[in-house]
Amino acid sequence: MRRIQTSVIVVGGGPVGLGLAATLGQAGIPCVVLERRTEPAAIPKGQNLTARTLEHFYYWECADELRAASLLPAEFPIGGITAYESLAGEYWYAPAGRETVGDFYFQRNERLPQYLTESVLRARVRSLDPVVALFGWSATSISQDGDSVRVTAQRDQAGERCEIEGAYVVGCDGARSLVREQAGIATGGADFNTRMVLAVFRSPALSAQLERFPPRTTYRVLHQELAGYWRFFGRVDVGETYFFHAPVPGDASASNLDVQSVIERATGIPTPCSFEHVGFWDLRVNVADAYRRGRAFIAGDSAHSHPPYGGYGLNTGLEDAVNLGWKLAAVLRGWGRPALLDSYERERRPVFVDTGTAITEGIERDRDFLARYSPVRDRGEFEQAWGAMTAGETAPPTYEPHYEGSPVVWGPEGSASGAKGYHTFEARAGHHLAPAALSSGRDVFEELGREYTLIALTRGGDPRPAARFQAAADGLGMPLRVVTDDFEWPRAAYQRPLILVRPDQYVAWSGDEAPAGATEILRRVIGEGVHAQAHA
Ligand SMILES: Cc1cc2nc3c(=O)[nH]c(=O)nc-3n(C[C@H](O)[C@H](O)[C@H](O)COP(=O)(O)OP(=O)(O)OC[C@H]3O[C@@H](n4cnc5c(N)ncnc54)[C@H](O)[C@@H]3O)c2cc1C
Repeated sequence: MRRIQTSVIVVGGGPVGLGLAATLGQAGIPCVVLERRTEPAAIPKGQNLTARTLEHFYYWECADELRAASLLPAEFPIGGITAYESLAGEYWYAPAGRETVGDFYFQRNERLPQYLTESVLRARVRSLDPVVALFGWSATSISQDGDSVRVTAQRDQAGERCEIEGAYVVGCDGARSLVREQAGIATGGADFNTRMVLAVFRSPALSAQLERFPPRTTYRVLHQELAGYWRFFGRVDVGETYFFHAPVPGDASASNLDVQSVIERATGIPTPCSFEHVGFWDLRVNVADAYRRGRAFIAGDSAHSHPPYGGYGLNTGLEDAVNLGWKLAAVLRGWGRPALLDSYERERRPVFVDTGTAITEGIERDRDFLARYSPVRDRGEFEQAWGAMTAGETAPPTYEPHYEGSPVVWGPEGSASGAKGYHTFEARAGHHLAPAALSSGRDVFEELGREYTLIALTRGGDPRPAARFQAAADGLGMPLRVVTDDFEWPRAAYQRPLILVRPDQYVAWSGDEAPAGATEILRRVIGEGVHAQAHA
């Protein structure tokens, strides 16, 4: 049996596992990725990538490759259309898409099939020396003690076996996670118990029908008979290929379901389709009770799953990967203290809980709306309510994941982490940093380091604030990059001249003057003096 020694074992090389491996590999941390599939599954799903996710690709140094892989023309509008009863109906609107918050991110959003995203990430991790990527290998067991973890794996075709030993294991192995189960982490939540069909098909008739709408990439159809769920089309390209999902009866299968008739319920017209794929999955809202047990962590769909409404799953999972990745790298390099690893769950789980709640509330809101209003029963009342719903969709987005309540962030006293907030250019502790041009013409995002960065915006070039932080960082053995500039517009929009930025571009602390207690500020952000959680 082959034996491999490494630092981090990543089980599952879907997008989240690959993102984690890229984060670790770029930090110089040896890791092994075990992925059952030799090639990504050719199902488009996970297509909507947020501007924030594109920032990850920028730091993984493959954002250009990702955009080149997209099947959409550059700048094609990514938002969606919402239609009542069918795409042929009288009532529809085009809500503002994620582009409305684009100015708060250094990259713009993108859309492409998940298998192409995975191909870009596979190429990236293969280029990183510290990463050993084993495609075609399945993890079969994990075990751990106080000092290490061991994973056994089997090569699926050949039956070849190997044992890998490392300091940590991370389960990025999807909704039916072996790592979660073998680490003894329970999972619970609202099981919506709804079977969904997923079809990929080509249809010139659908392309012709969609010409009645402004150009968009997704089309969701609301219907009273769906109890708040959607019939949903997404463009795979701007030609004739689409993917479609919709609730179906619990016993539906490829042999007994007439998928074309389900599609025609949504289009409202005869829609000849040639199918490339028909599959099924069970729609759930689920969150693991813990994201860590000892030396085992879980991330992405293995930690949480929810209906793909709003396109959060993959984006949330990639943020998990980046959050955990920099913390593992910091602890393994020696400057991060052990309690830093506990902050992963304390930051990421509340964000998912809020996200799952928002999705289930949305389903319930649509269900109530559809039960209560109907243009057949009372057209005037329906049109008034439909207009109000449309107006609600154009309100400023309130999805803004933040870590104000994190133990390793200097957030406001008594605050909690979560997904609800608002976007602003102000540099607030616990929130994502917005981009801003430096006087050099480069953006601050082009200067941020892979470890902590202090942005020191001083009047008259006073070097003392940065020097105090630098001395404190040296004393703690912590790497710190310093970026200095003046406190003029547009940097003045940060409203704080001193900003301590984490490796994941979140603000850990911001303030007005050089603190005497720079050491105290830095101790917390590396997890020193933070109470570590007990792990059974
Ligand atoms: C119809 C649909 C549409 C969606 N649309 C969006 C969207 O627009 N935006 C969005 O953000 N999300 C979307 N999602 C969600 C998104 O696809 C998932 O959240 C994403 O795939 C999660 O990635 P992951 O890496 O955590 O898990 P997965 O993609 O499930 O990857 C897990 C990997 O682990 C491997 N694996 C499992 N067990 C083992 C083992 N024992 N050994 C080795 N390998 C193993 C699997 O082969 C797999 O490659 C959608 C999902 C669906 C179903």
